[in-house]
Amino acid sequence: MTAAITPGDIFGRLVVVRQTTRWPERWLCRCACSKTRIVRAADLNSGLVDSCGCWGRERWAEWRKKFLPRGYQRDADGGASPTRKSYASMILRCANPSATGYETYGGSGIKVCARWLEEAGFSNFLADMGERPPRTSISRRLDSGNYEPGNCRWDTRSGQRAERMGKRAMIRLHRFHEQQKKSSKGKINGSDDHNTRN
Ligand SMILES: [Zn+2]
Repeated sequence: MTAAITPGDIFGRLVVVRQTTRWPERWLCRCACSKTRIVRAADLNSGLVDSCGCWGRERWAEWRKKFLPRGYQRDADGGASPTRKSYASMILRCANPSATGYETYGGSGIKVCARWLEEAGFSNFLADMGERPPRTSISRRLDSGNYEPGNCRWDTRSGQRAERMGKRAMIRLHRFHEQQKKSSKGKINGSDDHNTRN
């Protein structure tokens, strides 16, 4: 199914040295930065692992410098308040392809508005949303909508629920909201929404 790996093969920055286990098949590899790492054959073949980790960190640092507001993860005192943590993970799941949940958020086209991303992004976010109350998470009024003022609130349940929902559920929900918008505004008519397309 996948190509056989032999010593000397190159995967990104890794050179394959020798096999360490047969099942699952793992290989000891040496990275261009001289560190070694044992990697599953499947992860080499799929391209998931292409360095000891140094390359991913470099790419991430470069990407972060380019796209993320400075200091978005930390408060001025170096700590991270609950509000700050929510803010940072909102940005990550929309922007960082290796973040948990990216597929459901950024990978599905969900964005954080420019007002919350710019230099004063966190202050704007705080002004719009207020501090995060205990046991809540940020949720979007329309699960298909972006992270922006007017579509977000601190919520006790729906944030976690949205995270658990798969991509398919998100798409179904998106269609449902689209249909709702087309039919009577604000009126919930889920049971026969398929009859209200026109
Ligand atoms: Zn390395």
